[in-house]
Amino acid sequence: MSGPTRPDRGARLEVPPVASELGERFRLAGHQLYLVGGVVRDLLLGRDHGDLDFATDASPTETTRVLRGWADRLYLVGVRFGTVGARKDGRVLEITTFREEVYPEQTRKPAVTFAKDVETDLSRRDFTINAMAVRLPEGEFVDPFGGVRDLAAKRLDTPLDPELAFSDDPLRMLRAARFVSQLEVTPAPRVLEAIRRMHGRLAIVSAERISEELSKLLVGSRPGRALEVVVSTGLAEEFLPELPALRLEQDPIHKHKDVLHHTYAVVERCEPDLVLRLAALFHDVGKPATRRITPEGVQFHHHEVVGARMARERLQALRYPAAVVDDVCRLVEMHLRFHGYTEWTDSAVRRYVREAGPLLDRLNQLTRADCTTRNPFKAKQLAALQDDLEERIARLAEQENLEAMRPPLDGNEVMAHLGIQPGPVVGEALQHLMELRLERGPIDKDEAYRLLDAWASERGIR
Ligand code: ATP
Ligand code: MG
Repeated sequence: MSGPTRPDRGARLEVPPVASELGERFRLAGHQLYLVGGVVRDLLLGRDHGDLDFATDASPTETTRVLRGWADRLYLVGVRFGTVGARKDGRVLEITTFREEVYPEQTRKPAVTFAKDVETDLSRRDFTINAMAVRLPEGEFVDPFGGVRDLAAKRLDTPLDPELAFSDDPLRMLRAARFVSQLEVTPAPRVLEAIRRMHGRLAIVSAERISEELSKLLVGSRPGRALEVVVSTGLAEEFLPELPALRLEQDPIHKHKDVLHHTYAVVERCEPDLVLRLAALFHDVGKPATRRITPEGVQFHHHEVVGARMARERLQALRYPAAVVDDVCRLVEMHLRFHGYTEWTDSAVRRYVREAGPLLDRLNQLTRADCTTRNPFKAKQLAALQDDLEERIARLAEQENLEAMRPPLDGNEVMAHLGIQPGPVVGEALQHLMELRLERGPIDKDEAYRLLDAWASERGIR
């Protein structure tokens, strides 16, 4: 990531044309309009930012009036909180009246109170790097809290006292960690201290808001560092206690590290894919519960099964979609399947592919990432074995179309051949044929009918 360009006093920032155009409309209507928040930060960093957020002194009603006839669509669901949404030329715009205080969770308090000026609005934003604005249409840069300075120093700090910021909205503590991962910034000492003191407040934040930040944290560029922040400040105890519980577990395979540090490394070594990184996060969480000291040393028997169960409970509590939960748990459960791979039969390779199904590529990646040994010889050896397995999968896939692996006959063919009606016997026959397919590789129809006859007469069906 390249460093931010430092705008001089009175400098102008190149903003998207649609933003200047809207600024002109607000000016003509006698109102102020500022581009604010993450998009300003990302403009300085030269990073793409999809949505455009604006702040204005206009009320939502006045904003709506300015937008009508210009925007392609209007979204008014957020008006109660001061936000009017719009779509223009394929971009999503959100225009929010200057805010003083935000109580996103405590619904009994007023949801929002409006402020007179942009400085007050910026002062209540989460971090200085998100508290910069560009006045439209002129493009004058507004940075009352040193956001550019902090961005250049990769420092994460709050505009006002962090205690105040975090009691206004405790989610900001987790957002801090999210920005550590996404922007590679380092939280100021006072930010870390405030999180250490106040992490219990996260309890009032909804699971949906927490998981949204956790997901962004995980797919960022430094999730390992961010997770370390979350654990070392105690914040993890509030939404992911399985993680700090790994701290004291020594991993017998990777003796140099505890399982917690190993987990940070595995998450970071995986591609930034949410399912894959969640699987990396949870892959060893079953270890503390399954730890046994035996004469041969420490064992974590079936930790992958226990871990998959624990992952399911946690991910459901965090309200992840069912499909994500299922995929993550399946990966956790299968993450040791490769271990013990030396000379698998073709049949074992087929079973591995079938069990992994559409998760095969992710499973291979997780397995590779899981090897964090510092012993270069061992690392090389494991990588070579993994290469070998992946080559064999590719070769078999070419010969046999593994992806579409099905029994050599379908249900109708089985019924017609055996002269039977739909029922459990058909399923059993198909399962038997599938077993043979996995065992032997492709089977042609004639052979399949012979095998079916043999099975049927053994079962006394014909
Ligand atoms: P991204 O769009 O990548 O999630 P972002 O920084 O734009 O990053 P948003 O959640 O889109 O974050 O919020 C837009 C802006 O609103 C932020 O940059 C910040 O100024 C402000 N903001 C968002 N959430 C909070 C919060 N919980 N407390 C205070 N300010 C917030
Ligand atoms: Mg945003």
